Amino acid sequence: MPIAILPKHYTDLIAFKRESGTLSSISALVSWDQETYMPTAGAKARAEQSSLLAGIIHERNTSSKLGDLIAQCEADTDLNDESTPEGANIREMRRDYDLATKLPTDLVKNLARAQSQAQEAWKHARANNDFPSFINDLTKVLDLTREKGECYGYPEGGEVYDALINEYEPDTTAKEIEAVFTPLRDRLSVFIADLAANGTPPKVDFLHRSIPVEKQHAFGQAITAQLGFDYNAGRLDTTTHPFCSGFGPGDTRMTTRYEPTNFPDAVGSTMHECGHGLYEQGLPKGGELFGTPLASAVSLGIHESQSRMWENMVGRGRPFWNWALPVANEHFDGAFDDIDLDTFVKSVNTCAPSFIRVESDESTYNLHVMLRFELERAMIAGDLAIKDLPDAWNSKFKSFLGLDVPDDARGCLQDVHWSFGLVGYFPTYTLGNLYAAQMWETINETIPDIDEQMAVGDFNALLAWLRENIHQHGRRYSAAQLCHRATGKPLEADPLIRHLERRVKPAYNM
Ligand code: ZN
Repeated sequence: MPIAILPKHYTDLIAFKRESGTLSSISALVSWDQETYMPTAGAKARAEQSSLLAGIIHERNTSSKLGDLIAQCEADTDLNDESTPEGANIREMRRDYDLATKLPTDLVKNLARAQSQAQEAWKHARANNDFPSFINDLTKVLDLTREKGECYGYPEGGEVYDALINEYEPDTTAKEIEAVFTPLRDRLSVFIADLAANGTPPKVDFLHRSIPVEKQHAFGQAITAQLGFDYNAGRLDTTTHPFCSGFGPGDTRMTTRYEPTNFPDAVGSTMHECGHGLYEQGLPKGGELFGTPLASAVSLGIHESQSRMWENMVGRGRPFWNWALPVANEHFDGAFDDIDLDTFVKSVNTCAPSFIRVESDESTYNLHVMLRFELERAMIAGDLAIKDLPDAWNSKFKSFLGLDVPDDARGCLQDVHWSFGLVGYFPTYTLGNLYAAQMWETINETIPDIDEQMAVGDFNALLAWLRENIHQHGRRYSAAQLCHRATGKPLEADPLIRHLERRVKPAYNM
C-alpha cells in the first residue's frame, strides 16, 4: 500500500539527504573543472576547496542528526517496509550511514597515511621494476584494509573480502563472484587459445589513418546524440583519463580522449562514457529524491554494464557500423570510403593477449580482471604472502593468457589500485560485462528487430528498455535483484561467452 501522507521524520530525512546531494554535486563540479579547464596555477586553491567540501560532506554523512532520522524512520513500521520505495530508500540510507560511521577515526587516518606512502612506493617500484621495495608499504595497506573489512563486518559463513566488495557492489559475496567467474575463466582461456591457433587475424592497419581531433570530436558528439544523450542536459569534453560525472538534475558531464592516429580508441571511450552518461540521465533525479539512494546508481557493476553495453554490444556490432560508417566518412572526408562494412566490423573485434589490462581487448580483458580477483582475495584471506605475489601473478598469467610476463612492471605492478587499498573493486569491471551480456540477450528477445533499428541509427527502443528496466529504479533493488527482474535469471557466464563467440569468431573467419 502506498503511504498517503509521508511523516515528518521521512520528509526531513529526504530534505537532509537532498542538501547533502547538492553539496556532493558542487564537489563533483569542482573536480570536473580541475580535470578539464582549471589553469595549473589554480591547483592549490582548488585542493582547499575540495578538501573543505569533503570535510563538510563527511560531517553530514556521519552526523547524529542523520543517524537519528534514519532510526526514527526504521522504527516507523508503516514506513519501514522494503517492498515500498520509501522502505528501500531507508534501507539504503542505513547502509551508507553504517559504511560512513563504522570505522574508527584512527583506522581512517592510518589508512590514509599508509595509502599515500604506498602510492609513492608503488610509483618508484613500477618505474624501477623493483617489487621488493614495495612489499612493506603494500603489506601495511592490505593489513589496514583487512582491518577495515573486519570493522564493516560480514554475514556468517562469509569472508572479510565480502565486507570490502560491499563498498562497490552491495549484496555480493566472493563465493557468488567465484561461481560465475570460474566457468567464464576456463572457457575464455580455451576460446582465446582456439582463436590464436585456428583463426585468421583481421586486417586493422587502416584504423590508424590520421583523422584530425576536431573531426573526431564532432563525430563523437553526433553519434552520442543519436544514441540518446541529451546535450541540453550535458557536455562532452576532453581529458587524459575519460570519465563521466552526473552532477545532478539536468547536468551530466562526459569526457573522452583523442589521438589523431587511433580513431577507434576515441569511439570506444566516447561510447563507453556515453553509456555511463545515459544511465546518469535516466536516474530519477528531477524530483524531491535527488541525493537519496532511489535517485542514485545501484552499483559499480551495473554502472559498468551500461557503459560496456554501448561500447561493446552496440559499438562493435555490424548494425551500428552499417549506420555509423557512412556518418564517419561524412565527418572524415571519406577516410574509410575504400573499406567495406564487413572488413571494418572485423577490424574492431580483434583478440590479442597482451600484458596490460587497460590496453586489452574485449575477449582477454576479463581474464586480466579474474586474475586480480583471485590474487587479492587470497592476499586478504592471508593465503598468499605479499612477497610471493609476483610468482603467483606470473604463473596465473601463463595459465590464463598463455604468456610469460617479462617483468613486474608489466605484471603485478601495473595497476595503482592495491596501493590505494582498493580491494573488491576489480571484479566490478567483469561483473559489468557479464550483466551487459545477459541484458543484451533479453533485449534481443524483447526487441526482435533491434538490429534493423540500429542499422538505420534508431536506438530509441534500446534506450527505452534500459530506462524502464535499469535506470529508473536507482538503488531500489540490489544489482542481483535488478538483473533477475530484468532478465528472469540470476547472473550467469554463458551469455558473455555466447556474445564473444558470435562476435569475435567471424572476425577471425571461424
Ligand atoms: Zn566505465
